[in-house]
Amino acid sequence: MRDVKRLNILGQPVDALTFDRALTLATELAQDHEKTSYIVAVNPEKIMTARRSKLVSDFLHNADLAIPDGIGVVAAARLLYGEKLERVAGADLMQELCRVSGSYGLKLFLYGSKEEVNASAAKKLKERFPDVDIVGRQDGYLPEDEYGTLVERINASGADVLFLALGSPMQENWMNRYGASLKVGVCMGIGGTLDTIAGAVKRAPLGWQKARLEWLYRLLRQPSRFWRQRKIFIFASWIVFLKLTGYGRRRKSTPL
Ligand code: UDP
Repeated sequence: MRDVKRLNILGQPVDALTFDRALTLATELAQDHEKTSYIVAVNPEKIMTARRSKLVSDFLHNADLAIPDGIGVVAAARLLYGEKLERVAGADLMQELCRVSGSYGLKLFLYGSKEEVNASAAKKLKERFPDVDIVGRQDGYLPEDEYGTLVERINASGADVLFLALGSPMQENWMNRYGASLKVGVCMGIGGTLDTIAGAVKRAPLGWQKARLEWLYRLLRQPSRFWRQRKIFIFASWIVFLKLTGYGRRRKSTPL
């Protein structure tokens, strides 16, 4: 399983793997109920959050798969180590996992987002992939004192895959706290993916995605994200600084 090369970018892990390999590994983790595994989508925003939060940082380091979700981490790996990573967008991996879930007999649980978004995303997934087996779902605005009951419901559903659409770092904190009580094969944080599946938030058109400007599209559509997305600029400044000082190539890993 861990024959995947793990890079260290600003102290956080990023796995060097292709999209197909990530999908294969995700299906393997989902089928293995010996332990609950974790898939995290690593992007510049999350790396900067992890640098300030030991909890998020520990969570990333303990993840079974740390996929290179953002073009920023792909560029950083190239600049610092000369590694050509393929971008594995969490939103794409989630939907591919849904697409192939029928052929592996995987049961899915959707937790997070507003009730209407969660319900609509479940309906859309079922229309898109008729074999998909969604055995349970829950919106992301449940009071904390009901989390224990939710864990029981998830376990009773027999789900193999738990998708958490709570946003970061809430979804990492939730997995940290309740992961040990879960009996699912794999948990994956998917941020705002249910919003895009439901059509509540538009994903960048393909042209923008291909031009690697999905982050800019999100920022223009939702200017309120500026405060969060400023982390992307801080991340980029760090990478450029490390590149200019030759740190990455000398050490084969970045500091902190
Ligand atoms: N959300 C939730 N419960 C909360 C706060 C947020 O379910 O208490 C959901 C929110 O409805 C949205 C998602 O979490 O669907 C966060 O989306 P965002 O795009 O901000 O996530 P990111 O991937 O950027 O962290």
